[in-house]
Amino acid sequence: VASTAQRQTIYALSTPPGKGGVAVIRVSGPDALNVWQKMALPYKTQKPLEEPTPWKLQRCRIVHPENQSMIDDGLAVYFRAPHSFTTQHTLELHIHSGRAIITALLSALSTFPELRPAEPGEFTRQALLGGRLDLTQVEGLHDLIEADTEVQRVWALGSAGGETRAEYDALRSKIIHCLAQVEALIDFGEGEDLEEGVYERARTEATELLFQIRNHLADSRRGEMIRSGVKLAIFGPPNAGKSSLFNYLANRQASIVTPVPGTTRDVLELTLDIGGLPVVVADTAGLRETTDVVEVIGVQRGIEAIKNADVSLCVLPLPDVLKSSESSSESYIDVPSDVQELVTPDTYFLFNKSDLVLVPAVQTSISGIVDLKGRSWSASLATGDGTHEFVQGLAAALKQRFNIDGSDSQTKIHAPLVTRARHRVHLESACKFLEAFLELPPEEVVIAAEELRYAAQAVGRVTGDIGVEDVLDSLFRDFCIGK
Ligand code: GDP
Ligand code: ZN
Repeated sequence: VASTAQRQTIYALSTPPGKGGVAVIRVSGPDALNVWQKMALPYKTQKPLEEPTPWKLQRCRIVHPENQSMIDDGLAVYFRAPHSFTTQHTLELHIHSGRAIITALLSALSTFPELRPAEPGEFTRQALLGGRLDLTQVEGLHDLIEADTEVQRVWALGSAGGETRAEYDALRSKIIHCLAQVEALIDFGEGEDLEEGVYERARTEATELLFQIRNHLADSRRGEMIRSGVKLAIFGPPNAGKSSLFNYLANRQASIVTPVPGTTRDVLELTLDIGGLPVVVADTAGLRETTDVVEVIGVQRGIEAIKNADVSLCVLPLPDVLKSSESSSESYIDVPSDVQELVTPDTYFLFNKSDLVLVPAVQTSISGIVDLKGRSWSASLATGDGTHEFVQGLAAALKQRFNIDGSDSQTKIHAPLVTRARHRVHLESACKFLEAFLELPPEEVVIAAEELRYAAQAVGRVTGDIGVEDVLDSLFRDFCIGK
């Protein structure tokens, strides 16, 4: 299958369709050079360029291959295989972006009998089949194009560049190292040729690997969070300012990533960029609001939104919860008990309406139950006082919580390994085979080797070294044409 695909020459518009400065049309496959010779004529002379200088952008008259009528004045660049993105000979035609120009060019290309329009993601597919990218890099490339926030961009760039691949390759080599020892045991038998304790050493290595993979699996939610956003639920008593906060976050300039109106009934959701981190904010206040705290908080859906969230933000009105201590001059926060019940170690606090109190005292704890340092802020959503500090503080807290370092300009991410269900499935099966290996006694060395071989294969499926065909179609389904 791969070889047939590699023999075909495909073409597509690789920039968004519509009016704009430049459009790029890509042609990839063995006939790319032929297209260059027939369609990219030198700008000044009439003589066709024999062999283009590879990787050099050249100004040309882009013409129809049959009658040499000019389609546009543009630029062309030729990439000689295998040193192109697709690993195939590739031609890029840079033209003015306009509907009629693009249509004329695509129609001219369709007159070559050996050319056909590319399928969605097919250029990337050629790159994969050509061995330039592995599956994790293709996934990274997809995530990079889809990235809406800085953290997503940095992480996807690493993955597209091969960081994830390197980690999986390392994992697989370790299993293979383990396997090699067991196989040596089969070939030579323990004794004169082989040192003692080989099997034990292989078992120790396998145990460590199992531990390592389990750690990655335990961390898998973090990868998903970077891809699809940290879920944050806003809760608190009625009139605390939850809706005001939601609107404030939504209206901050350029902060909205994707509006997701009411994915759950009565819960408003928005994906926001908070300090470069994608955050899916849910306002549980869309729930029926009454003056009865118990009733509002008690509404099942709100509680579910909080329970399904990764983190929650409790909004409390300072005038209601700020109490002065009788014994000392200090003040403290008194949280209604039904709100307290929803507080977890992943709850942050916004004490709102600071404009209505005289001293927005610095709090260290709520009724002694939670340490508020680094996770509570005072602000007034009405006057805007403290709101900027709140957003910055929340961003910093979330980054720390999810192990993402650095300032906005220099985001550094401890890349999670497991970012897709696909990865999880294969890693879980690798664990299963490693466990099976560890359960076998040394006498069963032949079966034991087999289990290790399966474990290595399971990891190989993540990068596509094994079983790449199975995932191709589903993988490229959500690519668009021209990628
Ligand atoms: P929710 O019930 O928690 O969603 O609270 P809302 O956002 O609907 O706000 C309740 C009321 O408090 C509204 O009349 C707001 O205008 C008002 N409010 C919100 N934030 C502040 C604030 O910081 N200071 C003052 N004085 N009023 C506020
Ligand atoms: Zn509200």
